[in-house]
Amino acid sequence: MKTDATKNSQEDQRNKAEKAFGKLMVFDLNQAVKEKKSLFIDHFLTVLELLDTGKNLENFAKVFDATRNTIDKLPNKEAVCFAGCSHCCNFIINISSFEAAHLAQSIKETKSLEEIELILDQAAKKHETTKKMDIFERNQYREFCPLLVDHKCSVYESRPFACQGHSSTNLDVCISKSNLEEPKEKSLSTYMKALSPLVIDAYSEAMSSTFSEEQTDEFLEDGYMTIEAALVKFLPIDEPLNHWLGELKQSSFDSK
Ligand code: SF4
Repeated sequence: MKTDATKNSQEDQRNKAEKAFGKLMVFDLNQAVKEKKSLFIDHFLTVLELLDTGKNLENFAKVFDATRNTIDKLPNKEAVCFAGCSHCCNFIINISSFEAAHLAQSIKETKSLEEIELILDQAAKKHETTKKMDIFERNQYREFCPLLVDHKCSVYESRPFACQGHSSTNLDVCISKSNLEEPKEKSLSTYMKALSPLVIDAYSEAMSSTFSEEQTDEFLEDGYMTIEAALVKFLPIDEPLNHWLGELKQSSFDSK
């Protein structure tokens, strides 16, 4: 039987999640996403519960899987994406440090040394250019991702949330955006289901509910990077995930 204290704390968490979702709703999200509100609330609660029992690799991996599952459950019936369509793979992709370590680990476990060297080489070249750019210049920069092979993602199962959430409803708009032409449709909800920012925000909100404000600022500012920067940083490391966890422990985070 649940004690009053447990019930109150669960209610607090749910209220916190409702409030956080409310903040995200200021964006012009499509109706289908609004209807999925309960899915996001449940996601928040799962993440909070997992991180509250310990900030270890196992729990972060569970948070990662839970977030992937949440994105998979989102409505995408109108999606026009198909294998071989890669218009969004020349945008700048920002990923969290955990995703970066997870991606590098998966590449090291599944690809040959020659393939890894090629990826690293292409990532380093792109990183040389993009690392000097500010956010506005990056938004206007187009160069294909080092992980794209024959217009298909070579790491599809481990692709970052930003890629998983690119579920477009309008191919013409993707083509215009890819070619840096003025989009015919300016509405975010028309361009795409805009799912990944929502889930990444949910993830960030969960982090900020768990860590102190100061620690979260430190983590989020340093924790997001372009996909090419991520590959350059983590691919040369033997055990990327363990390395990431080591960095987290050395930072000012508490490691309960
Ligand atoms: S990781 Fe895959 S889906 Fe994402 S930009 Fe690169 S090639 Fe495209």
